[in-house]
Amino acid sequence: MLYRLKDGGYDAYLVGGCIRDVLLGLEPKDFDVVTNATPEQIKKLFRNCRLIGRRFRLAHIVFGREIIEVATMRGHHEANDSKNQISQSSDQGQLLRDNVYGTIDEDAERRDFSINALYYSINDYSIHDFAGGMDAIAARRIELIGDPETRYREDPVRMLRAVRFATKLDMTIAPATEKPIAKLASLLGNIPPARLFEEMLKLLLNGKAHANFELLRHYGLFRYFFPALDDLLTKNPQGIALQLVNQMFINTDKRINSGKKITPAYLVAALLWYPLQEKYQRLVDQGESPFDAFNKAMNLILSENAAHVAIPKRFTLGARDIWHIQSRFDKRGGQRAYRLSQQPRFRAAKDFLCLRSQFEPELAELATWWNQYVEQDATKQKEMVANLNGQGEYKKRRKPRKRYPNKNKQSKPNNE
Ligand code: ATP
Ligand code: MG
Repeated sequence: MLYRLKDGGYDAYLVGGCIRDVLLGLEPKDFDVVTNATPEQIKKLFRNCRLIGRRFRLAHIVFGREIIEVATMRGHHEANDSKNQISQSSDQGQLLRDNVYGTIDEDAERRDFSINALYYSINDYSIHDFAGGMDAIAARRIELIGDPETRYREDPVRMLRAVRFATKLDMTIAPATEKPIAKLASLLGNIPPARLFEEMLKLLLNGKAHANFELLRHYGLFRYFFPALDDLLTKNPQGIALQLVNQMFINTDKRINSGKKITPAYLVAALLWYPLQEKYQRLVDQGESPFDAFNKAMNLILSENAAHVAIPKRFTLGARDIWHIQSRFDKRGGQRAYRLSQQPRFRAAKDFLCLRSQFEPELAELATWWNQYVEQDATKQKEMVANLNGQGEYKKRRKPRKRYPNKNKQSKPNNE
C-alpha cells in the first residue's frame, strides 16, 4: 500500500497512533497513512478506495476485513481568509473544515499531540519526528503541539483526547497542556452531540473507563456528557450514586479486558439511573401516579441528555427496557418470573439489579433469587416461584403504591 503510493510517485508515511503504539510496545488498533497525493489521486491508484468525510476528507482503502485510512497531508489555514474556502473556523476559533493540503512538517503541526506526530517512511525505513514526539514518549508526556489554548479552541475534543491518551498509555498530561482545560471545558458544549457520543464510547469502552471517568471528573469534563448525573455526584460526593457508577466502570473494564462486550444501553441505563430516580420522585411528589411519573421521568431524562450526547435510539430503547425491568423484578408470581426472564435486555437488567444490590442492601435477597432462578431448569424455576407464593410475596407486592419503589431515596439515610 505504501509501495503503491511510492511507485505512483508520491510520498507516503505511516503516522499517528500506530507508530506511537509500536514504540510503546502496544498493539496498534489501526494503521493510518498520510501522503502528498490528493484524495482524487489516491482513488486513481486504488480500485478498493472510497472517499469519505467532510471535516477531514479521507480515503478508505479496503483490504479484506481491514480498512486503512489514507489522508492527504494538511497544511496551514488562515482563519476567516475569504480566499480560502476549504478551511473554515467558527467565532470561537473552532475548525469547521480543514482540507488545505500541505507538506509533511505542516501536517505534523496540525496534529494534536507530539506523540501522535511521528511518521514512518518506507523510503529510508526511519521515523521522522517533527514535534518532539520521541522525547515525549520517553518521558511519557501528553503534550499538545503549539499553543495549547489555541489548539483546544480549534477542536475542544482534544481535551477529551488528552484524557484518553493519558489513561490508555499511562502517561501524564504536561502542565501547559493541562492548564487551559478548566477554563476551556465549556467549549465542549459546542461539539455536536453525535461526535460526543462517539468520543464517549471511545472513553468508556476501551478498558479504561474507570480511570477516564475519574480524570474527566477531575478536569470538569464529565458534565458535558451527563450533566444531571454530574450535578448529583457533585452535590453528594459520598452518595450511593457515585459508588454505583464507580463500581459499574470497574466491572465494565473487567468485562472489556477479558474480551466480553458491553452494550452502551447498559452504560446509559446505569449512568442515568439515579438522575431518573430523582426526576421520578419529584413527579410523584407533585402528585403524578407512579406509573406516569416513571414514564415521564424516562422521557425527560433521555431528552434532556440528548442535547449533550446523541445516544442512538437502539441504545435508549435498551436503557428503557433495563429500567422498566427493574420495577418488575419483585413481581414473580404465576408466569411473571418466566415472562420477565424472556424479555429483551433481561440479562443486562439482571446484571444491573445485582450491581444496585451491592449498594442497596434491601435488594440483596431479590438479586440472589434471580441469580439462582436463571441457573435452574424449568421444573426448579416453577418450584422457586411456588415457594414465593407460599410466603405471600406475590400478593404483598401487588399494592399499586409499590409499583416503582424508589430505592434510592429509601437507602439514602444509610449512605450519607
Ligand atoms: P487510537 O489508538 O485511539 O486510534 P490514534 O492516535 O490513532 O489513537 P485517531 O483518532 O485514530 O487516534 O487519529 C489518528 C491521528 O490523527 C492521531 O494520531 C493524530 O495525529 C490525528 N488526529 C486525530 N484527531 C485529531 C484532532 N482532533 N486534532 C488533531 N489531530 C488529530
Ligand atoms: Mg487510530
